[in-house]
Amino acid sequence: MVAKKASRMTIEKADKVGFCFGVKRAIDVLEKVARERGGVETLGAVVHNRQVLQKLAAIGVKVAKNVDDIRGDVVVTSSHGISPQLEEEIKDRNIEIISTTCPFVLRAQVAARRLAEAGFLVIIYGDAEHPEVRGILGWTKGRGLAALDDKFIARLDQIPRRIGILSQTTQVPTHFTDFVKKLIDTAFIRDSEMRIIDTICHDIRERQAAAIELAGQMDLMLVVGGHHSANTNRLAELCSQVTETYLIETAAEIQPSWLEGKRRIGVTAGASTDEQTVNEVLKSLPA
Ligand code: SF4
Repeated sequence: MVAKKASRMTIEKADKVGFCFGVKRAIDVLEKVARERGGVETLGAVVHNRQVLQKLAAIGVKVAKNVDDIRGDVVVTSSHGISPQLEEEIKDRNIEIISTTCPFVLRAQVAARRLAEAGFLVIIYGDAEHPEVRGILGWTKGRGLAALDDKFIARLDQIPRRIGILSQTTQVPTHFTDFVKKLIDTAFIRDSEMRIIDTICHDIRERQAAAIELAGQMDLMLVVGGHHSANTNRLAELCSQVTETYLIETAAEIQPSWLEGKRRIGVTAGASTDEQTVNEVLKSLPA
């Protein structure tokens, strides 16, 4: 933790902030390609962070909303990865794909494919609408579903004998284990086989642990990141269980009333927030 002491207020930054390994790698690739080609398109936003997207736009990175929206003959896909069906659709249009799929996401895709090929129904603990989860589901070739609770079990015609369970990479580990326990209670029946694979990203685990530790010592936590970023929202949710917490995209969103009477303020950030934005938040706090 880096501490900035003021006469009445202490401000501390969590140990783990700045881009995660996967986002940094994706942005490095994207910047290189954009500079070499004088611009390039990405399929969807490469990160859920407006400030980062604005910087990328300045070097010629354009966001194609979907495959029909791609104008050029090359597209960069995000660290969230894509399904094999989408990959094929893009290639069928003679568009070259430059993939920046994070290795942790790739690990989840491979696990999903192997489980499905071995005859398991693949359950992904995660948000079915998130691009990463849609991509992983695609690798199950119709033998998977995504859920955040066990209600789906009641809707199945019959409980499959073989169930494989994995997680969206950015979920909270304890929430994943609670989900697994519920599935064991409801779906682990006679002659069943269950395979549980931990596919939660190491960076996210460390980031969440560092944020919770810091929140425990603070009167207020500021979580810096995109309002639509899944991992940033989860960090804010975890910190809010410990202390008063606000999710902000930039320093401009800080309300002076939040700081009234606070002596210790902690700052953490999502995996797609660049360190410059975090430092701007730190600088804006009263010194
Ligand atoms: S949060 Fe984890 S899984 Fe997601 S891109 Fe970053 S390193 Fe990869």
